[in-house]
Amino acid sequence: MSTEKAEAIVIRQVDFSESSRVVTFFSKEFGKFSALAKGAKRLKGPFDAALDLLSRCRVVFIKKSYGSLNLLTEARLSTRFRPQPAELQRVYGGYYVAELLQGLTEDFDPDPALYDLTVETLDAFAIPDTPSSSTLVRFEILLLREIGLLPNLSECSVCGEPVAVTPKISDGRFNHWVTQGGLLCAACRKEEYSGTAISARAISLMRQLTEDNTAFGSESTQTEIAECHRFALSAITNALGRKPSTLRYIQI
Ligand SMILES: [Zn+2]
Repeated sequence: MSTEKAEAIVIRQVDFSESSRVVTFFSKEFGKFSALAKGAKRLKGPFDAALDLLSRCRVVFIKKSYGSLNLLTEARLSTRFRPQPAELQRVYGGYYVAELLQGLTEDFDPDPALYDLTVETLDAFAIPDTPSSSTLVRFEILLLREIGLLPNLSECSVCGEPVAVTPKISDGRFNHWVTQGGLLCAACRKEEYSGTAISARAISLMRQLTEDNTAFGSESTQTEIAECHRFALSAITNALGRKPSTLRYIQI
């Protein structure tokens, strides 16, 4: 048992009793963890607005030994999740980010880079005119890279042949074969490997994104971003064992 401090984002809340909730955080220092927030459901509770979904806060909690519920003792709001109110897509985008962190990260497995990416993504939803779909697809791809599940974008997953992405073959297509965690070259592509076709251009966009962490450039089209999304989504669905449930409210 130890008292710990963390900078954290609220990613889930579950009612525990008449007045208490179990809150799941994604924190910079500890990764994901859950804690019992006593009195959190009371109108003038001890934690106030700090525990709203996707709020960023400074928390103090008592870390219990394995198997027992941690206890939240303090939560101070730093930033509230405030997307453009008229754009539901951004609100659901935030819920989608929370669902992916909940489903794809392990308890007490810190990843400060993933934490920073999450903050950046949620902040981007508050800026007017930031394209919400490219922000989300960027999050999907960089999240997969952080947790080590990004399919190999450089070589065929069967023969190991490098996947060349040059302007000459920019309309060349590769089949994405998600169970093998990667791409399939034309020579290896067989009927039994059903997969989604993906353009060389989309592959090159994803490579660039994972190499320099930038956003999708303005030259990337909605179709290409949607292709990258489908690619990332098959890896996400495979890892979760189901399609993310908040996805039905989002259009990419
Ligand atoms: Zn091959």
